Amino acid sequence: MEIIITEDECPICGNIGGITKKIITETFEYKNHKLDYPNYIVYECGYCGEAIVDGKTLKESGVAIREFYKKVDGGEL
Ligand SMILES: [Zn+2]
Repeated sequence: MEIIITEDECPICGNIGGITKKIITETFEYKNHKLDYPNYIVYECGYCGEAIVDGKTLKESGVAIREFYKKVDGGEL
């Protein structure tokens, strides 16, 4: 896991400098199957504790998750 402290403003509480960018491997589970999704970017605020998933990550992982669900439902996994 990679952790980067940013100087960004928190969109939830408005505090500046408390946002930590984390690059993790997120694991999604569906019907006893697991999907490891690397380079999953999350921003965490040290002030309010909110975790915000990066917009691009959310979009791309959404596509990957739908494909994963389709494969599980289709019996490919
Ligand atoms: Zn905050």
